[in-house]
Amino acid sequence: MCGFISIMAPEGHDVITDVLSGLLAIQHRGQDAAGAVTFGDKFQAKKGLGLVREVFQQKHLSRLKGHLGVGHVRYPTVGGGDDTDVQPFWIDFPMGIAMAHNGNVTNFHELKRDYFPRRDVRLASSCDLEAVLYVFAAKLIETRASNNGCTAEEVATAVAEVFEKVKGAYSVVGTVAGAGMFAFRDPFGIKPAVFGERDGPDGKSYAVASESVVLDVAGFQRVRDLDAGELLWIGNDRQPRFIQVGQQPHRPCIFEYIYFARPDSVIDGVSVYEARLRLGEVLAEKWRTTGLEIDAVIPVPESSRTAAQTMAETLGVPYREGFVKNRYVGRTFIMPNDKERQESVRQKLNPIRMEFEGKRVLILDDSIVRGNTSRQIVKIARQMGAKKVYLASYSPPLLHPCPYGVDMATKREFIASGKTERELCEEIGCDHLVYQDIDQMVRAIQEVRHDRREFCKACFTGEYPTGDVTEQMLSDIECDRLAAR
Ligand code: AMP
Repeated sequence: MCGFISIMAPEGHDVITDVLSGLLAIQHRGQDAAGAVTFGDKFQAKKGLGLVREVFQQKHLSRLKGHLGVGHVRYPTVGGGDDTDVQPFWIDFPMGIAMAHNGNVTNFHELKRDYFPRRDVRLASSCDLEAVLYVFAAKLIETRASNNGCTAEEVATAVAEVFEKVKGAYSVVGTVAGAGMFAFRDPFGIKPAVFGERDGPDGKSYAVASESVVLDVAGFQRVRDLDAGELLWIGNDRQPRFIQVGQQPHRPCIFEYIYFARPDSVIDGVSVYEARLRLGEVLAEKWRTTGLEIDAVIPVPESSRTAAQTMAETLGVPYREGFVKNRYVGRTFIMPNDKERQESVRQKLNPIRMEFEGKRVLILDDSIVRGNTSRQIVKIARQMGAKKVYLASYSPPLLHPCPYGVDMATKREFIASGKTERELCEEIGCDHLVYQDIDQMVRAIQEVRHDRREFCKACFTGEYPTGDVTEQMLSDIECDRLAAR
């Protein structure tokens, strides 16, 4: 999971301030590294490890001139903590192209082993975006009729080549120097990309971002999400052109609604907030069938707050804030080992005793991955004197690694792997455990949009929509991740 933004303003207007405010709005999608590239009469870049506010200082703003800009926040999956892997990437010769992506190239190993050596291409990083950039650039250079810019159709040919050669799930944004901006979504539209525009005295500005919240903070109107396999090109005539390049069914990632996206974002027409409200209601119905009495529903902050409110309302019990999150502690999920993760959960979530003492509490989380958070919070709830500690997850058991750019646990690490709910309950130490059902989860999100859209839910089912995920591929990705820790 990463986040990007690309902006094209009228000539003479610098975009860097909007790029940076957009990146701050999607900092939750990656805190490992940040970068931006702008184009006025040449590419200017600033990239580095750390948060957006750590990487960028005032002096960079005056240097990063130009009306075209691309920004990125990184959450490393493949590739590591090295600053050579920080996006955006660009080339200056024989034409200028800058790019950033969110997702993962699943055949990166094969491309590195066979495709690039045969073409005498040496990759400079271990970031899979380089594969997309070089395949795209090589085709565009081969196809374009003139050395002066390129057409929407020529860019579409380059995107078709990327779809043919580069497998996986990746939304991409970028700039062709002096010619325009582009964005495309992977053939199954697994990764999000939303388009917006803003009126100004000198003409319209355009933006594409991973989440609509970026458009909100930079004052853009959300126009629509890109479709699966669709290209958006805006050339020097400044007219957005949408071209359908891929022909696969749309399978957006369901985990965006569960956990990744901010609740104030709208993805593929579905409000993330509304989806979570509905997920809480639906899970409440399942909880009711247990017949267990509770005194309060307590969310594990932040993502499960929304669902916990409707869960409590539906069950007719109070919603209570039992844990206070210290948001300045780094993310527990990406700590290198379990011991560090467990200690960090304790630093991150501090309990409020009165919400537990003598009570039967139902603690709600968005998901249970390795079980570190659950084990710790159940233990804390008991230390605070809870009479009964129940646990619920508004997503189903996570069982399958995600090869599409999500840092899920490896197969062995999933706590739910090969266990019954009773065994899990014992391992986590709670008095009862309830997971959302897969069908109920899908229906809850479909209901928000009143349609029957299907999703990528491979992390729950093991059915990978791209149809080309092999055990070897999963094991290569697992090795890369373990090596990067
Ligand atoms: P765990 O402690 O390993 O069971 O992880 C569960 C917690 O991690 C939940 O509270 C989620 O909010 C969060 N989480 C779930 N998926 C991810 C992910 N891919 N990256 C980071 N955090 C996640």
